[in-house]
Amino acid sequence: MSILPQKNELGFYEIRLESIGGLGANLAGKMLAEAGVTGSGLNGSNFSSYGSEKKGSPVKSFVRFCDPDVEIRDHSPIEQPHVVGVFHEALYTTVDVISGLRPGGTVLVNTARELSEVAADLNMTQGTLAAIDALRISVEEKTKVNTAMLGALFRICSFLNPDDMRQVIRKTFEKKLPHLVEANLRTFDRGYNEVQFLSLENDAELMDQAAFVRPQPILGYETQERGGILKVTANSVLKDLSSSRQGYLPEYKQENCISCAACDTVCPDFCIVWEQKPDKRDNLQMFMKGIDYQYCKGCLKCVEACPTSALSAMLEEPYYAQQHRVPQSFPYLTAEGVKS
Ligand code: SF4
Ligand code: SF4
Repeated sequence: MSILPQKNELGFYEIRLESIGGLGANLAGKMLAEAGVTGSGLNGSNFSSYGSEKKGSPVKSFVRFCDPDVEIRDHSPIEQPHVVGVFHEALYTTVDVISGLRPGGTVLVNTARELSEVAADLNMTQGTLAAIDALRISVEEKTKVNTAMLGALFRICSFLNPDDMRQVIRKTFEKKLPHLVEANLRTFDRGYNEVQFLSLENDAELMDQAAFVRPQPILGYETQERGGILKVTANSVLKDLSSSRQGYLPEYKQENCISCAACDTVCPDFCIVWEQKPDKRDNLQMFMKGIDYQYCKGCLKCVEACPTSALSAMLEEPYYAQQHRVPQSFPYLTAEGVKS
């Protein structure tokens, strides 16, 4: 008898992990598939899809399970998963993370927020929403979010045995990083025990809303500029590096700042914002105004460089970056390019 709770028309139970480079979704997918195959005797496959491999770029990892008598001949990306794991909330703004979720499917999100708020942000109206504060767990245990996410995924995939995953964790870390074995086992167990669930309505009409939509590129052979040029110069100003942060960001206390610019010298992403205003003697000077968190990847080089206590490392809280961001201004730029 099959241990899989649901199967698609080809006999597969499918999981899609939505992540960004650097959070370990690729490794998590591999470990999940390995535990299912070696521990539970299932047939399984895993592969990932990513672009430039740059830290902070979107990554997808796919896991397929099926009964031992079913052959896996489908190696295409998973478009209609039973489970989706979202490793970073900043992905909502750029990727339709729940696209194609099957009726009654489960979405696991790495978040510190209320489940109802997350459901509203995802526009999720059916299935089950699961939440785990994997970032906090990984910071406290000095590990990575992927192990906490794996713990929560094992709770969702109750047909898998968590002891198999514990063995895979031991095997993965004990040769090269033996000092991380216990911390990763604790992280896995915390993910397993601390995940929370919210069941949403299962109305047939609402289920249709989750139908898979294959994303189409904005620029294709019919719409691109001649020669494939990009008309918007300096288009990196449109980038949002929030998803590159892994738990920390710099907190700015203006009352302690002497506007020495040491932070600006080391910041690799031009996040420090300045304004010109008169000093005590009425001479015009440049003063530090704040940080544009849209471009901040949380490297904390500025905190190390600051000679006063104006900058310090803080654990990122939900909405902090949006509420405290001081936007850089680009007066010479328009949506069409540089103003003449
Ligand atoms: S944390 Fe890094 S990227 Fe962010 S403001 Fe500081 S130096 Fe710049
Ligand atoms: S390094 Fe510190 S004191 Fe100097 S400008 Fe930056 S925040 Fe202010």
